[in-house]
Amino acid sequence: MTVRVYVGLGANLGDRGEALLHALKGMAALQGTRLLSVSSLYSSAPVDATGPDYLNAVAALDTEQAPQAFLQALQMLEQAAGRERPYRNAPRTLDLDILLWGDERMHGVALTVPHPRMNERAFVLLPLQEL
Ligand code: ATP
Ligand code: CA
Ligand code: CA
Repeated sequence: MTVRVYVGLGANLGDRGEALLHALKGMAALQGTRLLSVSSLYSSAPVDATGPDYLNAVAALDTEQAPQAFLQALQMLEQAAGRERPYRNAPRTLDLDILLWGDERMHGVALTVPHPRMNERAFVLLPLQEL
């Protein structure tokens, strides 16, 4: 079964554009997954945080993967980009959030969709609206 997934991408450390591009390629290469479209890139100051400006985008994908497996794959891409989590909302080389998983609602320990904070974030809503 294929599900339509929307992923929010963000970075504010290192070469942000390169990190987002690499992540898009990585997601497109996941088993049973097809990259459908990508929003424009948005640059904005951090929200509820300090540090350099963010570059954000949203991608639409179709995948046959299960939610947990897909999240794990995203976390591996974050790790490959050198993501560190010294404290909450810390600057990061790459952040990949699952915004929407079809029209499903999930409240797991590791995964909540729709993403609980997406509706208060212009850097998510603007690119998402494009798609
Ligand atoms: P925020 O969630 O407010 O955007 P963040 O992206 O900085 O903050 P992370 O440190 O990247 O937070 O992620 C913390 C945990 O959130 C992850 O370990 C993951 O299990 C969990 N999580 C829950 N729901 C989601 C989701 N929809 N997409 C990605 N991660 C999620
Ligand atoms: Ca996030
Ligand atoms: Ca995240």
